[in-house]
Amino acid sequence: MNCIFCGIADGSVKSQLVYEDEQVVAFKDLNPQAPTHLLIIPRKHIARLSEADEKDAALLGHILLVARKLAQDLNLKDFRLITNNGRGAGQSVDHLHFHLMAGRRFLWPAG
Ligand code: AMP
Repeated sequence: MNCIFCGIADGSVKSQLVYEDEQVVAFKDLNPQAPTHLLIIPRKHIARLSEADEKDAALLGHILLVARKLAQDLNLKDFRLITNNGRGAGQSVDHLHFHLMAGRRFLWPAG
């Protein structure tokens, strides 16, 4: 399988890493849509949230706590955490990732 985010997770593809542990990696988005725009991914290849299952419960919870820690470390009071699930929702990379974005006003409902 040729997955760019698996490459980032195993270090074979360069990225601007901001956080890593045994389960998760976080790095700067190549094409930022906000002053702070990070991607948080599991090292495990899961194509999208709809492909996760009960076995991934602890991993998914850990990702949310990493998002919380990064927001805290970066002093982000307001932030948005998004996952796009499927092409129709805007997913372009088939490896589960959460966008952590902050530093500008966000519209709601999102367009
Ligand atoms: P999505 O459209 O939700 O699948 O988000 C994929 C995101 O990955 C986009 O915001 C891209 O800018 C970002 N991206 C793609 N390749 C890389 C890369 N090599 N390093 C960092 N970010 C990337």
